[in-house]
Amino acid sequence: NGRLPNAVDCRGIRFSFEYFPPKNDEMEAQLFQTVTALSVFAPAFVTVTYGAGGSTKARSLTTVKRMIGEMAIGNTAAHLTCVGAPKADVDAVVDEFVACGVRHFVALRGDPQGGIGSVYEPFPGGYENAADLVKALRARGDFEISVSAYPEKHPESSDVAADIDMLKRKVDKGATRALTQFFFDNDDFERYLERVRRAGIGIPVVPGILPINNLAQVQKFAGLCGARVPESLISRLGPLNDRPEERFREAAHIAAEQIADLVRRGVNDFHLYTMNRPQLVTAVCGLIGYEAERASAQPVDTERSFRAAATG
Ligand code: FAD
Repeated sequence: NGRLPNAVDCRGIRFSFEYFPPKNDEMEAQLFQTVTALSVFAPAFVTVTYGAGGSTKARSLTTVKRMIGEMAIGNTAAHLTCVGAPKADVDAVVDEFVACGVRHFVALRGDPQGGIGSVYEPFPGGYENAADLVKALRARGDFEISVSAYPEKHPESSDVAADIDMLKRKVDKGATRALTQFFFDNDDFERYLERVRRAGIGIPVVPGILPINNLAQVQKFAGLCGARVPESLISRLGPLNDRPEERFREAAHIAAEQIADLVRRGVNDFHLYTMNRPQLVTAVCGLIGYEAERASAQPVDTERSFRAAATG
């Protein structure tokens, strides 16, 4: 029936989906088709990313406005970064998001202006870091505030303890949920979560799951942000580079197996990096047997979605 052999109980599962603002009309059409296609899974919330230093400000705002205003996706969260901008500019963006109907922010510092790997300097007159931004948002209203977390540690931090320290500071300022950087080894997540709980942090820590659309791209990105792509995944996906249908099938299986394993370890919430494409996410949901409780949801035809993924 197109499911993983070892089924999991999906009743408690909640998904959130991450999108990025489109760069042109064609990408915009693609995004809104994806949002519509994935809405059958009744996500707990969806998020729209924000370019560090405001590089996508207008596009992020337009996207969020359309998702809430036209598509009536009320649970749309806006990512917001504070790097490279004075407080007044960041506050003005918050005002604009709130005017669009945003009640949930993903509050981030953002990568240093010189790019990943360069030294972060707080902007003169700006928010110092993500914790400072959380504090300002909390003072502004009763928002949901999600923040980042790094199971394999952020490349800038000396060790995981420093990372957890930063997470604690964000929680102390009012963060209500953490969404993690993607990772592929669930032991890393479990170890991290144990340490987070030992540090007295009680908020939900939602694993970020990245179905691998393009192995080379993911390896490159993982290298930059300190995530490890296990050899086992490379050997499963690498040989399929020229066979798109098999490659997508394998990629969907890898993400579905990762989610199923986390469900068995007691995790219920998952943040999926959609890359603005519906096929892989749909196939993953189908493989784990997740069907939204909505009347509109049909059982997923996973075979069909593999074919669609391979051609789309
Ligand atoms: P912070 O949480 O403030 O810091 C990150 C880590 O750096 C800390 O955990 C800590 O270990 C270390 N660190 C920083 N300061 C100190 C200190 N003083 N002492 C010790 N350690 C320190 N980027 C975007 O541009 N736009 C987005 O929309 C976006 N969305 C994201 C969503 C998620 C779920 C995640 C995980 C990341 C996202 N990012 C995004 C990437 C993020 O902006 C970068 O990883 C950035 O480098 C750090 O931002 P942060 O909010 O995680 O920073």
